[in-house]
Amino acid sequence: MTDIRDRLNRLSQNLWWSWQPAVDTMFRSIDGDLWRKVNHNPVAFLRDIDDATLQDAGPHVLAQLAHVERSLRDYLADQSPWSAVQAPGLHASPVAYFSAEFCIHESLPIYSGGLGVLAGDHLKSCSDLGVPASGVTLLYRSGYFKQLMQADGQQIEEYQELDTNRVPIARLYGRDGKPMTITLPAGDGTISVEIWEALVGRCPLYLLDVRDCTVAYVPYAQRLYGGDGNTRLIQEIVLGSAGYRVFRCLDRLPAVIHLNEGHCGFAALEAIATRMEESGLSFEDAAAEVVESVVFTTHTPVAAGHDRFPPGDVLRLLRPLRERLHLSEHDFLGLGRVDPNNHDETFCMTVLALKMSRRANGVSSLHGGLSRRMWQSLWPERRTSEVPIGHVTNGVHVATWIASELDQLYTDCLGSGWKARICDPELWQRIQSLDESDLWTVKVGLKQRLIDFIERRERSRQERLGIEAPLPRLSANALTIGFARRAAEYKRLMLFLDEIERVVPLLVDPARPIQIIFAGKAHPADNIGKDLLRRLNALREQPELRDHVVFLENYDKNVTKHMLEGCDVWLNNPRRPLEACGTSGMKAIYNACLNCSTLDGWWDEAYDTKNGFAFGKGKTHVDSSIQDAADREALLATITGDVVPLFYQRDATGIPLWWLKRVKYALSTLGWRYNSDRMVIDYARRLYLPASLSMTAEIRL
Ligand SMILES: *Cc1c(COP(=O)(O)O)cnc(C)c1O
Repeated sequence: MTDIRDRLNRLSQNLWWSWQPAVDTMFRSIDGDLWRKVNHNPVAFLRDIDDATLQDAGPHVLAQLAHVERSLRDYLADQSPWSAVQAPGLHASPVAYFSAEFCIHESLPIYSGGLGVLAGDHLKSCSDLGVPASGVTLLYRSGYFKQLMQADGQQIEEYQELDTNRVPIARLYGRDGKPMTITLPAGDGTISVEIWEALVGRCPLYLLDVRDCTVAYVPYAQRLYGGDGNTRLIQEIVLGSAGYRVFRCLDRLPAVIHLNEGHCGFAALEAIATRMEESGLSFEDAAAEVVESVVFTTHTPVAAGHDRFPPGDVLRLLRPLRERLHLSEHDFLGLGRVDPNNHDETFCMTVLALKMSRRANGVSSLHGGLSRRMWQSLWPERRTSEVPIGHVTNGVHVATWIASELDQLYTDCLGSGWKARICDPELWQRIQSLDESDLWTVKVGLKQRLIDFIERRERSRQERLGIEAPLPRLSANALTIGFARRAAEYKRLMLFLDEIERVVPLLVDPARPIQIIFAGKAHPADNIGKDLLRRLNALREQPELRDHVVFLENYDKNVTKHMLEGCDVWLNNPRRPLEACGTSGMKAIYNACLNCSTLDGWWDEAYDTKNGFAFGKGKTHVDSSIQDAADREALLATITGDVVPLFYQRDATGIPLWWLKRVKYALSTLGWRYNSDRMVIDYARRLYLPASLSMTAEIRL
């Protein structure tokens, strides 16, 4: 029999484990404390565990291992995934999916929020469905920061150097046996990039590792969204240009180029330059061809979310690429300007991506409409409704985000193959037969797990700060509301608590208490966000609020997961219409947690008056303080008038029967739609297949 260590090592190299509860259970039963200490990362676990403990693993661990190995083998060998039957046309060449961030697992901190979560979930569903996608991103060796909160509520950012020996990634080597390296000319110098690979089920994720840059001094190039404008521009040149060249090195040019947000727009230009060099075509002809294969997804109506660079920097750093495209400086800058002749316009990556893609989309129905209005000036001859930007609403990878106990419960009710039929509305009708008291038992257990997690975290925070304060006393029977997301201003972290004197009596009502759990990082340069965090943390120091307002530091995938599992209500109160979609509320659906949200992003299209709660009238006001005040009133009215009474209305056995019926109704109406399989199928049918046809036609000639 092969050594258990070798077998575990092999298993640890495919991030498929990150959505397998059986793998989690197995490592926990080998050494639960170590498994927690290494943040559920098998590679780090195997580095730290001694041989004796491993060899001592009992027969049940070996049985678990054999089972998990078989599942992975079957998963990878499946010859008839969705795409083989429904989209065989996609199989000739890969879909290259570019994104500045990816959240696959918390051990690889190369994401900051929703954009990265979406990219990770997209790739996982591509793997599950057999869509031949390859992800491309940067290997940020300092990643995104770890958040530590001081006693006074000040956020401290700690950057940890990634130890590549302790994460499931592997360097790629060329035929010459040397690390595969791309040397990119930029400005008067070069950027040298090595390529790593992470395996996400069937899909590779290529990680671009900047080893040397002679072009410019780029501080913090190893941080996600960390440096100044110049650093950012260099990172985006690497993401687009070096990213596209990876496919050339591997001799697998993609049939479809999917740009997830404008950051990666240079990939389209690199593809055009490649086409010109291969075929001798002019820029116009090569661009006309390549653009057909490019899909662009825009993600935000917030102006600051669209990267803009000074023309001087663009001309200097991108001179080599511009020359390969045979473009004048004026024409090159025009690619990133709404009006090419307006010399006051900066170079906008979203404009570049819109011009270089034949198919573009927003990420919810509301956001699609907003994007058509926002970019209408690019198509001055068209009406707003005819602007060619559609929408594909986001979704979440259910196996990643669902509590395993609920997964088990749904399996009993929906049948063992339910995840393979997750987009089928009829399947979800069967959830009606789920027993409410079973559901409640599981949910209370999960809430207790969240409470234990909060206590553990709070105890270690107090140790770190050298303080001793009473721990929050939370109850598994109290209404628990979760709010976790980036502390960006428009997300209004403090909307609910702003007029605290009105809220306190609601929270501490002994008959119907509320506990509210917060988490979120502020971007290091976002002083407004940091101030919100300070105000929130000051509140929870008030003795009467200690058992009702909790803040969990270092919001990451693991924190999200604990919160979603344990909360009854997921609160979302962005200032409409600034949340393009939002995905954390979709994770809530599958965790039997009801949404309570403004009518923004996905909730605007999903809410049907009974599958959760909505507040506000879906209106916006030019004066944001008026809009905030109105939304706060509406939120308080919804919490006191609808949420609290329904939750505390109990049947003869003491369970919130009517609440649980709502939860089941939410699952049956929302479950089939807001998952990433539905999203990837939408992309594949409506965007990837038509985009790939242009390349296939080319091959046939
Ligand atoms: C899901 C998720 C997000 C996105 O949350 P929104 O409510 O869409 O902003 C951000 N960060 C993490 C860690 C997540 O898991």
